[in-house]
Amino acid sequence: MKNRIFYYSTNRDLDNINGIAPFRKKVTFSEALLQGQAPDEGLYMPDSIPRISLGDILSLKDKPYIEAAMLVTGAFLDSEINAGILRKIIEDSYPFDVPLQRITDRKYIMRLDLGPTASFKDFAARMMARLMSHFRDKKKILNVLVATSGDTGSAVGEAFKGVEGVDVNILYPKGEVSGRQKKQLDTIGDNVRAISINGKFDDCQDLVKQAFSDPSLDYLSFTSANSINFGRILPQMVYYFYAYAQLCRDGESIVVSVPSGNFGNALGCEYARRMGLPVKRLIMPTNENYEFPRFLKEGTYEKLSPSLACISNAMNVGHPSNLARFFELYSGTVDRTGTVYRYPDIDAMRKNIFSVSISDEETKKCIKKTYERYGIILEPHGAVGWRGLEIYLEQYGDFPLCVSLETAHPAKFPDEIVELLGITPGVPDSMKGIDERKGRPAELPADYKMFREYLRDNLRSAV
Ligand SMILES: *Cc1c(COP(=O)(O)O)cnc(C)c1O
Repeated sequence: MKNRIFYYSTNRDLDNINGIAPFRKKVTFSEALLQGQAPDEGLYMPDSIPRISLGDILSLKDKPYIEAAMLVTGAFLDSEINAGILRKIIEDSYPFDVPLQRITDRKYIMRLDLGPTASFKDFAARMMARLMSHFRDKKKILNVLVATSGDTGSAVGEAFKGVEGVDVNILYPKGEVSGRQKKQLDTIGDNVRAISINGKFDDCQDLVKQAFSDPSLDYLSFTSANSINFGRILPQMVYYFYAYAQLCRDGESIVVSVPSGNFGNALGCEYARRMGLPVKRLIMPTNENYEFPRFLKEGTYEKLSPSLACISNAMNVGHPSNLARFFELYSGTVDRTGTVYRYPDIDAMRKNIFSVSISDEETKKCIKKTYERYGIILEPHGAVGWRGLEIYLEQYGDFPLCVSLETAHPAKFPDEIVELLGITPGVPDSMKGIDERKGRPAELPADYKMFREYLRDNLRSAV
């Protein structure tokens, strides 16, 4: 058996941040998974990164996605979980295709949009849900509480649907989700309930935070399933290996472009390279929220507050939550408020990473041009990725093998596509029939006492 991997906090070396003592211990994978965030509000990092040989990577050629997931997640989990159980979790998580679609030459898009909510977040959320079910205290019910302003909630809700021993409550602001999003959230059903809060997104977040820190609710075993959980980063390493193995010739290297918001997806690629995947350059294009490309260019970091609203709305982020992990990997430290304590090795970062900010106008142009030239429909997030790749190739010269990620299905953005291309994108199976689904949310005011009553009356603590 290999060395067991433990997890430490990105804030471990800080003196008292905001009155919180730095967490200097290490925890196991299951502790990191069930806690989400470290007690000092830092992010958990593995204390070593396993290597995968080129031979093992190449052996994934023509194999199903599930084999790539076994190899990559197994490298982190082989001392934590039995291989048969891991295989079952992975098979259950990925009952859909991962198409690699050629755009031109040997430049491809990888379509991560065929899961139940038609966004790449399904990949991480589905595996994390099943890992949580496996690692939870089997005598108890694990209660997931999430506050959402839209897409994350439905990805998490769908991911946990029918998962044993876990109940999910999703809070959303009554007036701030679109009709379709509301339908998606209200009708998941089974062990997943929606709560419509008469308030704003911040109210929903506050209610969740208060419940987490309320000792009178300790008996309910809460967890957050939020996007900074290491259990969501791990599954996001897999598809880079999968794509490379299917497309490469003779161990050549690859350029990968990842449209980026909170940097969780791109972090998966950064880890993949450190595990041995021959990534020539990781491209991290952002939308008009330019704080990271500016940092790479100028060397000083300043978050954008408030963040800018762009058509690639899942990337409207003014301070990426996973930036702390990128800094840590390059020997720097930044906290969740955006304060930098130590700058990372920026030369090393520039060598591995290229970033550029893409305006909405350029994004729209790219959607049009890609359709006219190649007959491929991109949605706004995927277009930011593809345009970022084009700019990189213009600046650094052509490169044979490139993959850009398409992180959502164009059918999620019908208005933009009709406006730009004059056609209505076909709807994937996962999105069919949503309008006919039935289900009603609970409705509550933005009031903690009433929320607590609701939780006491409606949540189970044991099977
Ligand atoms: C969340 C999301 C992104 C951004 O991913 P990060 O991991 O936050 O960088 C990009 N595209 C879509 C469609 C998303 O939902």
